[in-house]
Amino acid sequence: MQPIPANELLAGLTLAEPVSIHAVVTDSRKVEPGCVFVCFPGERVDGHTFAAGAYQNGAAYIIANHPVDGVPADRTVVVPDSALAMVRMASNYRMLFSPRIIGVTGSVGKTTTKEFCYAVLSAFGNTLKTEGNQNNEIGVPNTLFRLESATEYAVVEMGMDHAGEIERLTRCVRPSAGIITMIGVSHLENLGTRENILKAKMEICAGLPDGAPLVLNADNDLLPTAQVPGRLRAVWFGIEQEADVRAENIQTGAQGTTFTLVDREYGRFPVSIPTAGLHTVYDALSAYAAATRLGLDPANCAKALSRYQTTGMRQHIVERGGVTVIEDCYNASPDSMKAAISVLKALPNKRKIALLGDMLELGDASEEGHRHTGEWVAEAGVDTLIAYGPRSAVMAEAAQARGVTTVHCQKAQEVLQCLQQFVQPGDALLAKASHAMKLEDLLQDYYAGL
Ligand code: ATP
Ligand code: MG
Repeated sequence: MQPIPANELLAGLTLAEPVSIHAVVTDSRKVEPGCVFVCFPGERVDGHTFAAGAYQNGAAYIIANHPVDGVPADRTVVVPDSALAMVRMASNYRMLFSPRIIGVTGSVGKTTTKEFCYAVLSAFGNTLKTEGNQNNEIGVPNTLFRLESATEYAVVEMGMDHAGEIERLTRCVRPSAGIITMIGVSHLENLGTRENILKAKMEICAGLPDGAPLVLNADNDLLPTAQVPGRLRAVWFGIEQEADVRAENIQTGAQGTTFTLVDREYGRFPVSIPTAGLHTVYDALSAYAAATRLGLDPANCAKALSRYQTTGMRQHIVERGGVTVIEDCYNASPDSMKAAISVLKALPNKRKIALLGDMLELGDASEEGHRHTGEWVAEAGVDTLIAYGPRSAVMAEAAQARGVTTVHCQKAQEVLQCLQQFVQPGDALLAKASHAMKLEDLLQDYYAGL
């Protein structure tokens, strides 16, 4: 963070002295002199209990939900909602800079798309990106606080689980271009219908300036029904449907994917990306579409897609003890399950084994989502399914009914035993579930025994 006078950073929250602020901190261990410390009530630990200590350690202002002992009133900013205060400060800070920013939202594929955007933008200049998956009302401000005068480009991931959140975030980020990856079924629990999910993602428009490109997936069943405001420029990407930016001649496998990018405006370009599966082609197309519509050279954008690097345990293909493992333990929804199963199917290994666990937060769509996953496993010709977790019982039933050798496990230990029993050198193994199922720990235990 570059120093900013407190009266500018806290504008709209309080009248502050023009002392210089060097950081905005939510973790009491990271307090430094001249920072603003923001207290969050928290589920396990109440940030307010660290307020007095933060003040003693040099915090210039404390943002809290009520007055706190040990902090003078003129150094306490009382706000009803700490997250909103973070967003307000980030918005004030962002105003100091004028980088070109791509904002990314959508049901799945945000982080993957963000990394493709980073691969492209960083080939052109100094680029800031969301670290990991910090896409909420704390993560997005923290990303913006890392803007500097030298930042030429940025890509910011924006997530939500309730209506209104994307609007708050996009007004703060003020992206120069927006991407909506797709509308799926994640967060159906809170939003009720997929149409409501579409509306919530379309809130990204609120932060886009007139004439800005809004990059949309033409192959998604719902996005083409979206009401794109006339003041924005819709740019469509796809594989199946007519679109401004399309992919043809797609060859995909464990080693990566190649295709011809066909851009209605700028022509045809060969593309090579180090990821497997059609879904990552979509993510690459959208990054290209956004960057080119911000004025960057199309041929170099297409070339730079090859610089993509995977992060976390997101569809990472590794060899362990002679087994090809698709580690995809970061999260799961029916859309991404389908995509991952198609990657498993495309691998050349003779025997294919899927370890698939519960998908959380699907609400009413949970049973159907798990059942469909079992059907896709059977359609893909997977030899053995290890289904893990209570919600996966219907997945197991559906796969078993279609002739797949299936085991349903409730405990991690049982899963481990199944892996040891069924998986042999030469096999391909897909491991995927919601993050809460902790498949990455399970895989580490499995690898340790190989
Ligand atoms: P989160 O909501 O947790 O931030 P996200 O939207 O950032 O998720 P990613 O982390 O990029 O999504 O990907 C989640 C899963 O979806 C991974 O398994 C990934 O391989 C898969 N995936 C990535 N892009 C797509 C896509 N366009 N369509 C379907 N699945 C995808
Ligand atoms: Mg993400």
